[in-house]
Amino acid sequence: MSELSFPITVMRIGYRVGRDPRINTHLGLVSRALGADEFLVSGDKDHKMFETINQVTRTFGGKFQTSHIDEPIKWIKKFKSGELGSEKGTVIHLTMYGEDHRKISKKIPKNRPLAIIVGGAKVPSTIYRIADYNVSVGNQPHSEVAALALLLDRLQDGNSVDQDFKNPKLKIVPDLKTKNVIDFSSNVFENAEE
Ligand code: SAM
Repeated sequence: MSELSFPITVMRIGYRVGRDPRINTHLGLVSRALGADEFLVSGDKDHKMFETINQVTRTFGGKFQTSHIDEPIKWIKKFKSGELGSEKGTVIHLTMYGEDHRKISKKIPKNRPLAIIVGGAKVPSTIYRIADYNVSVGNQPHSEVAALALLLDRLQDGNSVDQDFKNPKLKIVPDLKTKNVIDFSSNVFENAEE
């Protein structure tokens, strides 16, 4: 869905269904809204969490994919070697121990597929080694959602909110006075006071 010349995959590793559903849903929604094409999750399986994200895509448009993944390291190796597509991919791991995302973003090739790995409770050391770039958004522990949003924005030169979501059912029209939503499924232009 991204307007970039390279597709972006976000992968959340070590998901725990009992603890992380809300934050994980937010990771998926931020990925979609700010230009990623795909959201992969390893760890516990959670159909409901994916369904929430997929429902937003069906309503607001675009071609965002979500899937569970059993073997993230295997996937990353294949992604890097080009086995998953026609080109070799670049892997960025988001970690507070990494290098400044503002510096690294300039070095990342912009013409190849990109995977952004977001950690969970414990990140295996292999991830640090296998990543092409270990990247931080400041060196304080904070939110994976905030770190992802800032990285996606920097990779797109501050334009991550300018995405084109094809075939939406609903489209929000910014309006300071009323809540304006175009409903393409019923050809109704809803204009309601907030
Ligand atoms: N949710 C985890 C838990 O309950 O144990 C906390 C770990 S941390 C919030 C989860 C992920 O957020 C990290 O693996 C990393 O990907 C990301 N993260 C947190 N702070 C970061 C920072 N300063 N820079 C980059 N990524 C960061």
